[in-house]
Amino acid sequence: MGKSFDIGIDEVRAAGVASNVRPESRPLDRGAPANGKSFFIETFGCQMNVHDAEKVAGVFLARGYRPAESIAEADVLLYNTCSIREKAAQKVFSRLGAWRGIADGKIIGVIGCLAQQEGEEIFERAPWVSLVCGSASYRKLPQLVDELESGGRRVMGLALDTNETFETELTRRDNPLRAYITIIEGCDYACSYCVVPHTRGRERSRASDAVLTEARRLAEAGYTEIQLLGQTVNSYRDPSPSKLKFAEILREVAAIRGIRRVRFTTSHPNDFSREIVDAIDTTPGLCDHIHLPVQSGSTRILQAMRRTYSREEYLEKISWIRAARRPISVTSDIIVGFPGESESDFEETLSLLDEVGYDGVYAFTYSPRPNTTAKSMPDAIPEEEKSKRLAILQDRQRQIQIARNEKLVGATFEIMVDTHHAARSQWAGRTSSNLIVNFGSPHSNLLGEYVQARITRAAPFSLVGEQVG
Ligand code: SAM
Ligand code: SF4
Repeated sequence: MGKSFDIGIDEVRAAGVASNVRPESRPLDRGAPANGKSFFIETFGCQMNVHDAEKVAGVFLARGYRPAESIAEADVLLYNTCSIREKAAQKVFSRLGAWRGIADGKIIGVIGCLAQQEGEEIFERAPWVSLVCGSASYRKLPQLVDELESGGRRVMGLALDTNETFETELTRRDNPLRAYITIIEGCDYACSYCVVPHTRGRERSRASDAVLTEARRLAEAGYTEIQLLGQTVNSYRDPSPSKLKFAEILREVAAIRGIRRVRFTTSHPNDFSREIVDAIDTTPGLCDHIHLPVQSGSTRILQAMRRTYSREEYLEKISWIRAARRPISVTSDIIVGFPGESESDFEETLSLLDEVGYDGVYAFTYSPRPNTTAKSMPDAIPEEEKSKRLAILQDRQRQIQIARNEKLVGATFEIMVDTHHAARSQWAGRTSSNLIVNFGSPHSNLLGEYVQARITRAAPFSLVGEQVG
């Protein structure tokens, strides 16, 4: 159907899984009778973007298109963009330039965050593009494709102000082992560095019965692991009369027959409640992992970032997690080199790493983004200094992970097997706490199976083990 290129380590793996596991589709993938045309989606970005691509693919499958084997063969070529960091526009226009030579007779579209950000400008700079659509307008895609199929030259979906969520009759599932469900779209926070509120629009939650129906269908199709998605997943507010709270919908999804693991990402510290920890503590199907991005360890910088919590408030929430009866792993996102970040602010971030003891951190250098207030803040940190701080932080975190992982040697974990490394006769999978375990096994056909593995060796980013039992 398409390729996925991802930024975060977790996301890279999530997308990478699809090429390593059983290639057959699950029954959910069936579309309308073939119309003889094909589509290809190239995706950059976070898990939300990867899953958006699955839903957009569903729109085309429902119209009788089939997934193209290659870009050259496709009748519809979509570029699903991300603009969270770096020179996104530059990259997109250079990719579109590369498609110019094959554009004849094809529908070329730009979708996602950069489509929203650049809008009509895309038609100006790349006149061979005929579709530009931001994620807040995906529900209009069938209409936009209708217009193009009946001879329309240029169509756009750029409205941001919507209460509606993207409900699709069909979602193409690219990962046969882990299924994603968006439960909340957009974001109502206004972090000073972030483009998301400008590219994905206001926060809007899906009705809990729609979410639960989707989860049940996935379980019936054989999925055992579900990941609930949202930019601020735990800000979920059920718009239906059931008024399920976030912790309640977590429990309900985990209670579905056949579902063995439920993950959720990304949680905002401000909306992080004890109820979530209680739910994990008392519901075995809820994975013992929380991704709770802090961004900085300095309250002064957190204020400048408009994160709505202080270092101390964040640490209090960590203490709730640490007080759980079940060990829960914690990961985070961190931005280094935010405008005005002093050496001592940076030191506070380093000391926070020690204090929390994260199991993983996705660290980024601050990247000024269009339409954000941080872009015009004084005291920009030079790129060289940002890179230096990033390397220091990554090194410190690496040491923390080595120490944490070494303590796991000798322990036995349940692994959901998602990868086969044929060349080294090894299998790999994840623990409920989201750690990667590579292990040897005398068995074959383990993909999708849940096995027990005893840890024999620790590395900073993964563990090595052997299957037991
Ligand atoms: N909603 C999530 C939260 O509040 O933590 C984050 C979503 S964002 C798509 C993923 C990560 O990208 C953020 O946690 C942040 O660390 C990073 N990020 C966002 N804007 C950035 C920027 N302008 N420069 C560098 N990193 C950025
Ligand atoms: Fe961006 Fe902040 Fe919203 Fe996360 S909470 S998506 S960082 S504005």
